Amino acid sequence: MRNDRVVVIGAGIGGLVAALLLAARGLAVTVLDRGAAPGGKMREVAIGDARIDAGPTVFTLRPVLDEILAEAGARLDHHLTLRPAGLLARHAWDDGATLDLFADPDQSADAIGRFAGAAGAAGYRAFRARARAVCRTLEHAFLRGSRPSPVALVARAGVGGVRDLLGASPFARLWDALGEHFADPRLRQLFGRYATYSGSSPFAAPATLMLIAQVEQAGVWLVEGGMHRVARTLACLAEARGATFRYRAEVAEILAERGRAAGVRLASGERIDAEAVVCNADVAALAVGLFGEAARRAVPDQRDAVRSLSAVTWCLHAPVAGFPLAHHTVFFARDYAAEFAAIFRRRALPAEPTVYVCAQDRSDDGTAAPAGPERLLVLVNAPPTGDAAAPTPQEIASCEQATFARLARLGLVVERTADRMAATTPRDFAAMFPATGGALYGRAMHGWQAAFRRPGAATRLPGLVLAGGSVHPGPGVPMAALSGRFAAAAVLSDLASMRRSRRAAMPGGMSMR
Ligand SMILES: Cc1cc2nc3c(=O)[nH]c(=O)nc-3n(C[C@H](O)[C@H](O)[C@H](O)COP(=O)(O)OP(=O)(O)OC[C@H]3O[C@@H](n4cnc5c(N)ncnc54)[C@H](O)[C@@H]3O)c2cc1C
Repeated sequence: MRNDRVVVIGAGIGGLVAALLLAARGLAVTVLDRGAAPGGKMREVAIGDARIDAGPTVFTLRPVLDEILAEAGARLDHHLTLRPAGLLARHAWDDGATLDLFADPDQSADAIGRFAGAAGAAGYRAFRARARAVCRTLEHAFLRGSRPSPVALVARAGVGGVRDLLGASPFARLWDALGEHFADPRLRQLFGRYATYSGSSPFAAPATLMLIAQVEQAGVWLVEGGMHRVARTLACLAEARGATFRYRAEVAEILAERGRAAGVRLASGERIDAEAVVCNADVAALAVGLFGEAARRAVPDQRDAVRSLSAVTWCLHAPVAGFPLAHHTVFFARDYAAEFAAIFRRRALPAEPTVYVCAQDRSDDGTAAPAGPERLLVLVNAPPTGDAAAPTPQEIASCEQATFARLARLGLVVERTADRMAATTPRDFAAMFPATGGALYGRAMHGWQAAFRRPGAATRLPGLVLAGGSVHPGPGVPMAALSGRFAAAAVLSDLASMRRSRRAAMPGGMSMR
């Protein structure tokens, strides 16, 4: 198996982790990405000299990356400086109220008590206990299990786990489940928003997605130098173990020979042979035939999938005034239901969006802030229509107007100038991540079965393996990293079984060793 050739299509987190783990096992790994740098969605945008994280900004489940690096013989803290955030996020509403959530749950409960009274604090404690039970069960039975099926989940969860899951009313909607704990609509909105971390509507997602709130409560880290550095670090570690990276190398076809993946053909026509191929592109790209017929047949049809959220983002280097930003701040829309109805039903940009601002130069609580212009990522949710009825330039301009007017209304004035900001729209995301329409998280988690409909790492074509946020266990940096680890394991097991069957097929069934 050592020296077997593996092509990894895509240097997103899933591809990088698969490449690192396979290179660490001595396989000859070539990573091909159509982009210019590692990271995929974990990209950065340059505004003058300022380099701004334009993708993920909330880093959770640190132990996942610790374990992966340890498997590759490295230590995360030798390569990256991570600081735990004491203040997880600040939240603001139109009535002028703000609420901070903290890593320390007692501090959060006290803050919620001041914000919404004793009933709010009690509701939070009960919600937290329920979310913790779900998280405990799902982390081992689902997230770390390689097979996304209800049967496998029940088998791994055991009796206690199933009881915890049933207690979480897995068939209920998240929004309804939150109503059992929070009479204050603002708290329901705050905890419902976690559904958007998987690109879903809180009004359609299952109650089990309360696990995301728990994941954040379990720890958020700030990465010194920015999140994009995580991708660069993984790429460097993989290179140090022998992997080769080629950028601006678009794969046009996954080749199959004698019933196995046999390599890839680039858009340039170049052919690269391999014993196994890991595909880190969205599974939708395989399913619509962007990688050729053999790859199309290798994955389940995705036509029944509801695409997850896209976004409109603005990276800015700008002075801000007024509202006391934390590192992560959320400014809520007044009518949350209308926001998601616009996106998922009318497939339109919301008239009044909820706005997330990452003030990247600030400490977690915002007390350490730069004096002059600062690096900001401003994000609003958008429909994944980047390949069909994409928002027009006029609609994007109105969305920008509505977004910054909303911030101003809640007290935050951002002095933006056209030369110090860069927008990314659903159409741009669709161009970067083909066949997605700009959906950033694979299929939406709408309904309790959606989680089981994501494909696992193995495909119907031996030697072709999947990794990334559109496959099991789902989107988000730690999940995509776990998918890369499943992909590496699937490649190793596929190559081992190929060797066994080739040995068995030899005259006399003799071992070749
Ligand atoms: C704006 C934004 C904010 C987010 N916020 C968070 C957050 O705060 N916390 C969090 O945990 N997650 C967040 N996410 C989600 C997280 O970034 C993703 O789930 C994760 O990074 C996806 O990784 P992936 O492995 O699926 O690869 P991707 O990032 O999807 O990368 C896939 C790679 O494949 C390449 N590729 C595709 N087709 C081809 C081809 N034909 N040939 C060669 N290469 C190809 C692409 O160029 C790309 O580099 C956010 C995402 C976005 C966009």
